[in-house]
Amino acid sequence: MSEARLVRLRPAVQHYEWGGTEALPALLGVDNPEKRPFAEIWFGAHPKAPSIAETPRGGVPLDGLIAQDPEAWLGGAVLRRFGPSLPFLLKALDARKMLSIQVHPAREQAREGFERENSMGIPIHAPHRNYRDRNHKPEVHAAQSEFWMLHGFRPMEEIAAWLDVTPEARAVMPDFRQRLREAGAGRQRRSLLLRELYTHFMHLPQERADELLDELLGRLEKAAPWPTDAPEHWALRAAREFPLPGGRRDRGIFSVFLLNLVRLEPGQGTFQPAGVLHAYLQGTTVELMANSDNVLRGGLTPKHVDVAELLRVVRFDDSPCEVLQGEPQADGERVYRTPAEDFELSCFKLAGRAAAREARGPEILLVTEGAVSVAASGGGLQLNRGQALFLGAGVRYELSAADRAVVWRAKAGLAV
Ligand SMILES: [Zn+2]
Repeated sequence: MSEARLVRLRPAVQHYEWGGTEALPALLGVDNPEKRPFAEIWFGAHPKAPSIAETPRGGVPLDGLIAQDPEAWLGGAVLRRFGPSLPFLLKALDARKMLSIQVHPAREQAREGFERENSMGIPIHAPHRNYRDRNHKPEVHAAQSEFWMLHGFRPMEEIAAWLDVTPEARAVMPDFRQRLREAGAGRQRRSLLLRELYTHFMHLPQERADELLDELLGRLEKAAPWPTDAPEHWALRAAREFPLPGGRRDRGIFSVFLLNLVRLEPGQGTFQPAGVLHAYLQGTTVELMANSDNVLRGGLTPKHVDVAELLRVVRFDDSPCEVLQGEPQADGERVYRTPAEDFELSCFKLAGRAAAREARGPEILLVTEGAVSVAASGGGLQLNRGQALFLGAGVRYELSAADRAVVWRAKAGLAV
């Protein structure tokens, strides 16, 4: 096995303005005296911001390195299934401000939408373009701190209870509770009713949305402060963080009450399949996704919201959010199991012990705590906190740590 099949990665940093100023600089071990926001660091081969692979001949963008010999880096199974590029993108993310409410398309929707927008002549980087590539973008993540997010529609009985005590929202669909009762347990009827309610909120004339939200937020403000586990807390915060020009209100604030408000402990995670509305509200997390940039926004954003397209992609199912704990494996590894073939996220907790694995396809290892020795067929090296390694298909490796260390492992999800 040649040494070239195992390279250190220098990540691409994204300084979006919602990012925190401390967590990611601390992870990377860099100073941040100007307090620039560090929102995301990307480990992967996304052409928009590839990581730099540190090869013996110098730094090479990872997408370029893989393109030189896709079969060797990706292995035959991943190459045949996903084509000649890395199927996943690993990120560390730190949300100081709330992120937009969003949903990602299924693969067929992405392909169809991408072709449609091409045929309409919409430039690929136009702000009103929805589909920037042909791929779906399922995501899994595992919190690194206490983490707050919105994930999927709340059970409709909870939504009905909220409408009961919220005249400003009940005005949008006064007969919701009665129709929920009539729908009974019928899945399709419930789903259509939920679609109708959400569509009413998203289609409100702007003046009406402003009027209702002014009243609602004014009332909530008088009763403040609200505890962090109350949607009211986040609705008020959203109103402060997303003022629209001219004193208008962001209708995404209604969605804060329509979606499950989820609090994760460090190590807990969630999966965002196609069609599930979600928003990261606060905290740091490690996230793994399919290699795509396709996002449809549903509020809490100054960016383009295409309501018609959003309504085509959102799945109108209600249920409590499923929290992933990670399934324990041998050698202190925990796997965050999802149905996605593009990726699988897992985490090793090593303390005075070793774990041996074979990279059957491409893998990325990222150390978030402690220091780890990696012994591989092509040579050995040490990874410190914040450092990452890219492994080509077929590399056998052993991880060991004298003290407590945490290593995140990203690989393809399909059985290879
Ligand atoms: Zn997302």
